[in-house]
Amino acid sequence: MTVLRKNLIDGEWLGEAGSRNINPSNTNDVVGEYASAGPEEAKQAIAAAKAAFPGWSRSGPLARHAVLKKTSDEIMARKDEIGRSLAREEGKTLAEGVGETIRAAQIFDFFAGETLRLSGEMVPSVRPGVGVEMTREGVGVVGIITPWNFPIAIPAWKIAPALAYGNTIVFKPAELVPESAWTIVDILHRAGLPKGVLNLVMGKGSVVGQAMLDSPDVNAISFTGSVGTGKRVAAASVEHMRKFQLEMGGKNPLVVLDDADLAVAVDCAVNGAYFSTGQRCTASSRLIVTEGIHDRFIDAMKERLDKLVIGDALDAKTQIGPVVDQTQLKQDEDYIAIGRQEGAELAFGGERLERETPGFYLRPALFTGATNAMRISREEIFGPVANVIRVKDYDEALTVANDTPFGLTSGICTTSLKHATHFKRNSEAGMVMVNLPTAGVDFHVPFGGRKGSSYGPREQGRYAMEFYTTVKTAYTFAG
Ligand code: NAD
Repeated sequence: MTVLRKNLIDGEWLGEAGSRNINPSNTNDVVGEYASAGPEEAKQAIAAAKAAFPGWSRSGPLARHAVLKKTSDEIMARKDEIGRSLAREEGKTLAEGVGETIRAAQIFDFFAGETLRLSGEMVPSVRPGVGVEMTREGVGVVGIITPWNFPIAIPAWKIAPALAYGNTIVFKPAELVPESAWTIVDILHRAGLPKGVLNLVMGKGSVVGQAMLDSPDVNAISFTGSVGTGKRVAAASVEHMRKFQLEMGGKNPLVVLDDADLAVAVDCAVNGAYFSTGQRCTASSRLIVTEGIHDRFIDAMKERLDKLVIGDALDAKTQIGPVVDQTQLKQDEDYIAIGRQEGAELAFGGERLERETPGFYLRPALFTGATNAMRISREEIFGPVANVIRVKDYDEALTVANDTPFGLTSGICTTSLKHATHFKRNSEAGMVMVNLPTAGVDFHVPFGGRKGSSYGPREQGRYAMEFYTTVKTAYTFAG
C-alpha cells in the first residue's frame, strides 16, 4: 500500500494526495504520495508560525534542548531505516544515505547543546551609572527552502539552529524528496514541539515557495538551491526588508600538483567529483592538473572509474547510484554533448547504462583537454561529469582555480607545505581542502562560500547564530 504523507500546519496533519515520489533506481517503485500545498495553506502555515513565535521564543533553553535532543536520539536510533528511505527517494547509495542521516542526528545534538550555552555580554556604558547589555533574540518566522540533493542534512542544519535560537518555522522541502522532509518533521512534532512552531508545506516552489517569498510575515529566509531561485529569494526579501541567507551552486576546483601523492589525488578526485552521483554543491567538477603528473593522473583515474560499481542505490555493493530524475539526466547528457562540441575529449564514460530495473543510470564522465573558458568548466552541471584542465605550474593552477563565478569549496593535492599554505591563503573559496576531497565537511564548523555560491552569514556550527538571531542592546540606569 502506498503511504500518504500530509502537511503539518498549526499542529495538524492536513491535505490530500497531490504528488507521487518515484525511486530513481527503479521508476516502477512509488515511494509514497504527498499532499501538495497551495498559496492558502502557505498563508495558514505562516500565520500559525507567527502566532507560535511569542511562546516559543520565551520557552527557555530546557524546552528547546529537550525537543532537539529527543529528535537527535530518534534519528540516530532509526539511522538505517531513514538512510535507506533517503537512498530510495534520492538515489544516493545506502552508505551515503545512512551517513547523511547520522549527520542530521549529530546536528540536532550539537544545537541541543547550544541551547544551554546561550550567552550575552554586559559592559559599562560611557555614561557613569548606566549598564549596557547585549543579548540575542530569535528573528521570528523563518522560511526554510531546501534542495533535493541532501534531503535530510540540509533541512537539519537549518531547522535545528532556527529552533535552538527560538524561531518558528515554515519549511518547504524540494518536490523530489518529500519523504525525508516529512520524516524529520514527524520526529520533531512527536518530540513535543508546541503547535505552530514547525510547519511543513510540501508543494511546488513556484506556488508554495513563492507564497513564502511574497509574505510580509516571514521575517527571514534560509535558502539552499540553484542560483536562479536564489536571486528570486534575494529580490523578494529586499522588497520585504527581511533577512536572507543563500547557499547556491559551485564549480569547485581540485588542483593536483606534480608532487602530489597520486593515490591520494585519485581518491580525492573520484570521491569529490563522482560520489553522490556528482550531485553535490561541493563537487570538484574542475580537476586542474600540472603537466608533470597529468598523464599518470588520467591513466589512474580511468582505471579507478572503470572499477566503480554503478547501480541500484539500495544494493549494498553500489558505489554510484542513479541520477535523481529525468530532467537532471537530460541536463547531464546535454552538457556532455556541449563538452564534445567545445572540443574537450571524452576520455571516459558519459553513456546511459541499463540495469535490472528502469532507472536514470549514467556512467561517470571524465573530459580531458578542457579549457577553463569552456561552458563545461564555467557552468554547474550537477551530475557525474568532471573535466581535466592541464596547466603548466602551481601559479597557473591557482589562477585557473580562482577564475570562476563561484567560490564554495576548493582543494589541492600536494606534498609541498609551501604550496598548500599559499593555496589556503589565496584560494577564493569559503572552504579549502588540502589532500582531501572538496566535498565532505564537518557538522560543527561553518559552511558556506563566496562570490556566486553564497550570500549572507555562514551556516552550521556556532556561526549559525548570526543568521538565526538578532542582537538587542539594552541600557539601564538604576538610579
Ligand atoms: P532549485 O533552486 O530548483 O530548488 C531549490 C528549492 O527552491 C526547492 O525547494 C524549490 O521548490 C524551491 N523553489 C523553486 N522555485 C521557487 C520560487 N519561485 N520561490 C520559492 N522557492 C522556489 O534547486 P534544486 O534543483 O532543488 O537543487 C540543486 C541546486 O542546489 C544546485 O545548484 C546546487 O548547487 C544547490 N545546492 C547548494 C548547496 C550549498 O550549500 N551551496 C547545497 C546543496 C545544493
